[in-house]
Amino acid sequence: MGLTMSSGKAASRLAGLALGEDRRFADLDGAGFPDFAPGSVWLVGAGPGAPGLLTVMGYHALCQADVIVYDALVSSGILQWARPGAELVYAGKRGGKPSAKQIDITVRLVALARDGKRVLRLKGGDPFIFGRGGEECQALAAAGVPYRIVPGISSGVGGLAYAGIPATHRETNHSVIFLTGHDSSGAVPASVDWAAVATASPVIVMYMAVKNLAEIAAKLVAGGRNGADPVAVVANASLPEQEVVESRLDAVGALADAGQLPTPAIVVIGKVADMRETLDWYRDQLRANPLA
Ligand code: SAH
Repeated sequence: MGLTMSSGKAASRLAGLALGEDRRFADLDGAGFPDFAPGSVWLVGAGPGAPGLLTVMGYHALCQADVIVYDALVSSGILQWARPGAELVYAGKRGGKPSAKQIDITVRLVALARDGKRVLRLKGGDPFIFGRGGEECQALAAAGVPYRIVPGISSGVGGLAYAGIPATHRETNHSVIFLTGHDSSGAVPASVDWAAVATASPVIVMYMAVKNLAEIAAKLVAGGRNGADPVAVVANASLPEQEVVESRLDAVGALADAGQLPTPAIVVIGKVADMRETLDWYRDQLRANPLA
């Protein structure tokens, strides 16, 4: 009965899209998605890297935008879907640097919108997860520029999935902590209560944590976390060059200090990391597909 109910719901949602049986992916643009109005900004999450992980709404935006202002971690495979003739603006900026450039980016977004452009601000992963999307929207709101947010698959969830690591698993954790390994000055964030984090959740997922990993790992162990906890460092997740380094909490800091951890990477601490043993599905032959 449950099945009947949910498939009925799905069918009515699809009917709302008015897609006939013979329609194709490219036809989605005519399927009633929101209008990307000139003079507005869409803040779109590109997902962790594989172009196939962009949302359909994000694809729709790429097909319409006049200008695409994109970050360093947006893969070139996604930019290839930009509307022919769209202007591509690189706003690359790696975390940990002073935020002066961030101001330039927001000023530029506002200026482009006021110029009557359809402005797509494309960010890696999800724009609201350690992506400064909130700050950019605050600036747009203050300037009276209309905007829309198109969420994306965050690397701390979807990227881990490509390494065969579920962020939650019923037998291991009923909670997960997401944190960043550095603040705007590049230091370990002082606002994080490391002793509390150490024991608050069986799984900790860390963004931008490789540079400060030795210090972070030491703080967690000092806070009562088991040094034998498994750790996986997942770099370039969902891309053909994806690499995973498996370690333990009391050993991974030395690897980081020795420069042996590839980046950009998600660091996950907890038993879910061990599930790779059976769930590591993204194998060489699958990586040959550049979309996924
Ligand atoms: N908004 C992004 C995160 C931006 S912060 C998101 O939701 O994913 C940048 C950090 O994200 C990187 O330092 C790294 O920790 C992580 N990251 C982004 N893409 C990644 C990828 N493909 N593989 C591994 N880590 C990634």
